[in-house]
Amino acid sequence: MNPPQASTRIDAATRLECRICWHVYDPALGDEVEQIPPGTPFLDLPAHWRCPQCDAEQDKFLPLTDR
Ligand SMILES: [Zn+2]
Repeated sequence: MNPPQASTRIDAATRLECRICWHVYDPALGDEVEQIPPGTPFLDLPAHWRCPQCDAEQDKFLPLTDR
């Protein structure tokens, strides 16, 4: 089911999980801590956005795949 290339595909609805603390960023919910409005895709987060729980940078997040 996975695409052959390991590159991460992130679209507007993709949730991403912090691999440090397992916090999940859900675009449908946004992020109250950073005042990100619901409906904000991960790719549209401001560059300074970091994990609200552990302060990890955005490249520490891995996409979650729904099945
Ligand atoms: Zn984290």
